[in-house]
Amino acid sequence: MYIFITNNQTLSKFETEKLNLQKEYVATTNNLIKASSTIENLTKDLETTIEKLEDAEKDLEREQERNEEFADQLRRLSGTVKDLDKLSKTDEEILQKYSRTYFLNENFIPMKLAKIDNRYVMPDKKDLYFHGNAVEFLEDMLDDAKEAGYDVRIISAYRSFDEQTALKGQYTQIYGSGSNAFSADQGYSEHQLGTTVDIVDINTRITSNSFAETEAYKWLQDNAYRYGFILSYPENNEFYIFEPWHWRFVGVDLARDLHRQDTQFYEWDQRKIDEYLIKVFD
Ligand SMILES: [Zn+2]
Repeated sequence: MYIFITNNQTLSKFETEKLNLQKEYVATTNNLIKASSTIENLTKDLETTIEKLEDAEKDLEREQERNEEFADQLRRLSGTVKDLDKLSKTDEEILQKYSRTYFLNENFIPMKLAKIDNRYVMPDKKDLYFHGNAVEFLEDMLDDAKEAGYDVRIISAYRSFDEQTALKGQYTQIYGSGSNAFSADQGYSEHQLGTTVDIVDINTRITSNSFAETEAYKWLQDNAYRYGFILSYPENNEFYIFEPWHWRFVGVDLARDLHRQDTQFYEWDQRKIDEYLIKVFD
């Protein structure tokens, strides 16, 4: 009997507990359902946010591309402005080919002229002038020639139109009309440019073909291009008499390319030469 009562009591206790558990189960299930819908919503929010982020990233990329394009345009533009500025400060006549029919304008004067230091000039000569943007190249060349053991000196450099006319007059008086062959319809323009010098051996002191027999001349032939100089009228050229003393500055790039291709300045097309004008003093 005691046991029955006990069991009865225990049973009702279990019933209650079971009911509680069932309630708890329902509550938990409800919570779970709520939570999973919250998770679903959160996932959707997250996806939306990610999409927005991706869009923003694309916008940013596009914006960056536009900025780079703009920067490129600016660079190109400022490059053009720099080039134009550089060209406006470069005598456009400096790389022209001159001939008996194409002369330099008599009014032409180089933009800059500099006195050549006396140690490069033949002793007892009056002051000589060279193009101010090229004089360093000239002096470097003669320094290195001296270091290699060759004391060559400049005997003639910039000549104005008037000086040249006077000089031509002298030659004509002495040699008659034959003076045209060397006093130079062609070489004349080049001296007026300010970028041309006549170089001689300090011992022989005169411009003559014998200079071509010297070691100094050989050194110039092998090295002058490094300083931007070329021989305008080499041996056996078809334009003019051979002038081993007459060296013209045309810029390091052009002189180097002429040397590499073993070609002469006067053989090149003027349009091809003009491409070097922008960097003639670089
Ligand atoms: Zn000359």
